[in-house]
Formats: sequence, structure tokens, C-alpha cells
Amino acid sequence: MSVPGTEQNPLKVAIVGAGPSGFYAAEALLKSGLVVRIDMIERLPAPFGLVRHGVAPDHPKLKEAIAVYDRIARSPEFRFFGNVTVGRDVAVEALGTAYHAVIFASGAETDRRLGVPGEDLPGSYTATEFVGWYNGHPDFRDRVFDLSQEVAIIIGQGNVAADVCRILAKTVDELKHTDIAEHALDALAASRVRDIYVVGRRGPAQAKFTAKELRELGDLDATEVLVDPAELELNPESLAEFEDRKGAASKKNVDILRDFAARPRGGKAGRIHFRFLLSPTAILGQGHVEGVAFERNRLSGPPFEQAARSTGELVELTAGLVFRSIGYKGVAMAGVPFDARQGVFPTRDGRITDEQGTVLPGLYACGWIKRGPTGIIGTNKPCSVATVASVVADGAGLDEAPRPGAEGLPALMGTDGRRVVSYEDWIAIDQAEMSRGAASGKPREKFTSVEQMLEVLGAARR
Ligand SMILES: Cc1cc2nc3c(=O)[nH]c(=O)nc-3n(C[C@H](O)[C@H](O)[C@H](O)COP(=O)(O)OP(=O)(O)OC[C@H]3O[C@@H](n4cnc5c(N)ncnc54)[C@H](O)[C@@H]3O)c2cc1C
Repeated sequence: MSVPGTEQNPLKVAIVGAGPSGFYAAEALLKSGLVVRIDMIERLPAPFGLVRHGVAPDHPKLKEAIAVYDRIARSPEFRFFGNVTVGRDVAVEALGTAYHAVIFASGAETDRRLGVPGEDLPGSYTATEFVGWYNGHPDFRDRVFDLSQEVAIIIGQGNVAADVCRILAKTVDELKHTDIAEHALDALAASRVRDIYVVGRRGPAQAKFTAKELRELGDLDATEVLVDPAELELNPESLAEFEDRKGAASKKNVDILRDFAARPRGGKAGRIHFRFLLSPTAILGQGHVEGVAFERNRLSGPPFEQAARSTGELVELTAGLVFRSIGYKGVAMAGVPFDARQGVFPTRDGRITDEQGTVLPGLYACGWIKRGPTGIIGTNKPCSVATVASVVADGAGLDEAPRPGAEGLPALMGTDGRRVVSYEDWIAIDQAEMSRGAASGKPREKFTSVEQMLEVLGAARR
């Protein structure tokens, strides 16, 4: 038998997860020059991962990546198997037998914990659940957020924190023509949140926003940004960072914050406040969030390595709502080694390794489950290309026996009673969502439960 990758013996690859990194891996395989058959397995009936369920509804341009993924999905060598959870409906071991190679692209589906008392008080939420809720992710559609509170604190100063802040601060008019989930728009319409504190443990020069996301916060209809100029005083190490090209993005952020600080009060109904150099030590309250206790920090260390160190000074902010936005984290999957500290599958050059660092033949990873939750959508492309380069390099060494692919797995063939969702099925769901949205001037009205999506398919068959 010939090595996998020929007409007689196509290289059969399962990709687990239909987010950007999974699609970029599929694209790289299609361009590899080998004869490939790709089966992408996704736990939801809907593909596109965080492009559908993470990227903010008021940033539609960023969802244009979907057009690229759609083209890949329509390739004859590609099949989509939605509504199948790997590690539950189909075992990793079974995939390893049915395919020459398995590429995990399962993302980072949970959040890092703050590890402070009161973290789980009612009124304290993770950005993950809030983002999933307003984006109509089936796992989060039933979450209830107490938006009767007037003051919210967002802990974290990255782009996800900026998204959460913007969605809380925007008016219904600013959101109603986006693909925000209907249940979220209704709840936000009744929101009483007026003051939003966005708090970071380091200084303004270390905040992780990108300039565009930060600037946008100063451009909202009914909410203004308040920054105390004293908060923007920088230590010599931060000023030194600006002298280096690596510090250009931070300098831009500080310039934007200075512009905010110089603005006269506009008398808008809502306010966003930035606070720096504060680490939460407890979320306070009896039965519900009433505030957050922080320790004031100072920065210590050379430029670009400055860490937050407590000064011992305590600061309290009163608030009825807290959103913790300190980073996403991958989750373990039965049958795959997991680095619980980093929240990733351990890899070397994209090849999954066991605890001793030994490569497990045929198992690979790309995207957030390989690198951790960093970078933008495009960052996943070189990551997936590098992983596929390892698959191709290993090709000749992979077991030569032809593999059955999905045909060898009842869970993918739907013969175990599960309604597996094909890409054609997804197109029917997609079109139904778009027609639902058209009525209210939205690009789409998402179905927010698996059952609703499967119902569309029932109706389509009739
Ligand atoms: C809130 C938020 C906003 C963002 N906004 C932007 C933005 O505006 N611009 C930008 O460029 N980037 C943005 N990003 C970053 C971007 O979304 C990520 O870089 C990218 O989605 C990571 O791709 P991925 O394929 O590794 O993971 P994901 O996109 O998370 O995809 C993983 C997929 O795997 C599936 N899966 C998980 N477990 C299993 C399993 N056991 N079996 C089968 N399937 C499984 C999941 O359902 C999911 O569909 C944002 C991220 C977040 C969290």
C-alpha cells in the first residue's frame, strides 16, 4: 500500500472544532499537494466557533472571515459533522483508529478564575458567560444577568473587557441592527447600568486593548469616558517602553486615554471610568455583590517586564455587578493529555505530547487549544499552517493502512440515533436565521438552542 496522501490511499484527517484554527488547518491540508479527505467534527450544529459566538455583534466586519471558511467547507474533499462532541459522542481513540491524523482545534472554552473570596456571589459573572449570552451560544442562553444594578465593575483590560463594556454601554438603537441575540437585546433594553469601571492590575501603558477597541469606547451615543489625568502619570520604565518600537501600541493607547482625560464632561447618561494599578482581593457582599476590594499596586521591573506589586494600600469600589475578564482557558478532553496550568494540550511543533514530552503519533493541535487564548482571528492561520506542516512531514511515517474515516464511526454516520448536522444542513439553518433577522433589520436572528436548529432541519425535510 502507498503512503497516505495518494488517490489509492488519501490522507484522512479529522479536525475537531469548527473555529478559525480548524478551518485554517483544513485550508492548509487542501493546499498541501497531498490527496486528502477532511472530516471536521463540531459539537454545535453551527460552525465558526468564536467568530459566531465571541466576536461582538457590533463588529460585523470581523465576521467576514466566515466567507473564507464557507469556501473551504464547500470543497469536495471536506465534510462537516456538526452536533457531535468529541470525547463524549465519539472517543478520541476511535478517531485515532478511523483517521491517519486527528487535529484538535477545540479552542479555549472556559475562563481563568480570579481566586478571591466572593468570586461566585450572585452578581459576579465571567466575561465568557456574558459574551456567550449576548451572542446566542446555546450553553449560555439561559443565563440571567442582574442588569437592575447601576454600577458595574469589569476586571481586566483587554479587548474582551472592551467588548463587554461596549455592549453594556450601548443603547438599544446602537445594537438593534446587529446580530445580537434577541433575549440579550430585550434584557439590555431594561438595563439600569450607568457607571462602568474598567479596572486593570497594571498601568495604562500595560493595558491590552487594541487602539481601535479603546477609541470606540469614547464614541458612544449615551455614555462618555471619564479618565482622571492623575491615573495616566507614567513611571520612567513605561516611558522607556514608548521609545522602543515594541511599545508603539501602548503609546497609542495612552494617547487615546489622554484624549479622553482632556475631554470636557458631556453630561451623557452613562459613564465609563478607567482605573489602573488595582488587583482585586475580594468581591464583597452579603448574598449579592456590593463592591470589590482592591489592593493598590506599583510597577516593578525593567521595561516590558514590569509586574504589579502590592503597595499594601486598600481601595474599595461600590458596585452591584462584576464581570471577570481575565482570560479564557482550554478544557480537557477525555483521551488527550492536558496541561491544566496553561489550559492547553501540550504540543511540540503542533504534535501532541504526553507528560514525558513524548510525541503521540497521529495527534496534533492548533489554535487556542495549542497556544492559549492569544491573538486575533488571523493569528490562527500561521499557527494552523505550522501544525499541518508537521502532519505533512510525518505523512510518510504514518500508518500506511487506509482508514475508513467517518464511515467507520457510528456517531458520525448518525447510526447511533444522533442527528448529525452536515454542511448542507448548516446552510439551511443559516438561511433560516437570516430570514428571521430580515424582519427586524438584523443580519440574522440566531437560533440559540440546538433543538431550534434541528427543528429547522425537520421542517426543511418536510
Ligand atoms: C469574546 C471574544 C471576542 C473576540 N473578538 C475578536 C475580534 O473582534 N477580532 C479578532 O480578530 N479576534 C477576536 N477574538 C479572537 C478569536 O475569536 C480567536 O482567535 C479564535 O476564535 C480562536 O480560534 P480557535 O479555532 O482556536 O477556537 P474557537 O473559535 O473557540 O473554536 C473552537 C471550536 O471547537 C468546538 N469544540 C470545542 N470542544 C469540542 C469538542 N469536544 N468536540 C467538537 N467540537 C468542539 C467549539 O464549539 C468551537 O466551535 C475574540 C475572542 C473572544 C473570546
